[in-house]
Amino acid sequence: MNVGSFTYHVFALFCYLLSSVCQVAKRLEKFKTTIFSQMSMLAIKHGAINLGQGFPNFDGPEFVKEAAIQAIKDGKNQYARGCGVPDLNSAIAERFKKDTGVVVDPEKEVTVTSGCTEAIAASMLGLINPGDEVILFAPFYDSYEATLSMAGAKIKCITLRPPDFAVPIDELKSTITKNTRATLINTPHNPTGKIFTREELNAIASLCIENDVLVFTDEVYDKLAFDMDHISMASLPGMFERTVTLNSLGKTFSLTGWKIGWAIAPPHLTWGVRQAHSFLTFATSTPMQWAAAAALRAPDSYFADLKSDYMAKRAILVEGLKAVGFKVFPSCGTYFVVVDHTPFGLDNDVAFCEYLIKEVGVVAIPTSVFCLNPEDGKNLVRFTFCKDEKTLRAAVERMKERLLRK
Ligand code: GLN
Repeated sequence: MNVGSFTYHVFALFCYLLSSVCQVAKRLEKFKTTIFSQMSMLAIKHGAINLGQGFPNFDGPEFVKEAAIQAIKDGKNQYARGCGVPDLNSAIAERFKKDTGVVVDPEKEVTVTSGCTEAIAASMLGLINPGDEVILFAPFYDSYEATLSMAGAKIKCITLRPPDFAVPIDELKSTITKNTRATLINTPHNPTGKIFTREELNAIASLCIENDVLVFTDEVYDKLAFDMDHISMASLPGMFERTVTLNSLGKTFSLTGWKIGWAIAPPHLTWGVRQAHSFLTFATSTPMQWAAAAALRAPDSYFADLKSDYMAKRAILVEGLKAVGFKVFPSCGTYFVVVDHTPFGLDNDVAFCEYLIKEVGVVAIPTSVFCLNPEDGKNLVRFTFCKDEKTLRAAVERMKERLLRK
């Protein structure tokens, strides 16, 4: 038994023992172990190449790691200020101005959190009341539904459908009621790689203004916008006042384990976010915040190189998947690409992913887990290209050799 397989068996035994005694509050009853953990576990068990969970298999930049080491050596090791180390709040505000043109007050409008997942949770728990309706666009990232459930929100869901995953504005219009408190958008979009167009954002914005609806916008892939510009909802006329912009360091600096995120919002919304944040985590890792400030002040060339590196990776995977025989949908941004697996004759996305892991040795993510109605995702699976070129090519080779059309 190799180390990976041993770790898997220990973990599986742990999960089994836990599930035989475990208890969970009703608000989390319907949720399982996240699909990303499940798939990474299976990758280890079957020795499969992991193009499932979105974490780079290469390291973050030296200058950021050095800044963290220096901060630790300089004794920046006690609790940080709850809403963020002042230097990081300023660096986030500077970055936001550079990226979007929107000037924000780092002291009153920026809150540092433990990753974007906490920023999402703090926004929901701090600003949504039980029974409030919140509109999601499926497929959506798994934490949205769980966090909204913790907040007691009523979820309404609109499905973005292939081939272009366009926002059905009329459906959004008819879904909004007097109880709609907010909508949560994600652009560039995980899992589809779609970037919301200016027209779509304008249409969403006017409906939100007309109906007094808030917008939470998850923009963690904003630096990975390849074929179109990324537009921040908060930069549209009249929107800053009703928008909470959520972002993080992980994707941009290939440091997903650092868990540094933030929420940018006008003071009246920042109040709710900070109240929840205070009692969720109170503060985020101090030395990592100092390093995050250094990261965000990286020269423009850093961001340009990141983008061109990822475009090269995307080309390898997309061309490879096409050669294997998938129908590949365009990935304009993020480090994900979604394909239609039906040419291979498996019943649904989960069955396809199981087959792919066990018989082919490659991990992908079934997209039905990103949908309230699993039928909506049953033909699609997601691959990530945040892996080195050798890994991407090896995965493509395995699929070419072993994946047979039925
Ligand atoms: N955001 C990553 C993805 O979509 C996963 C993060 C996680 O494992 N929770 O793959």
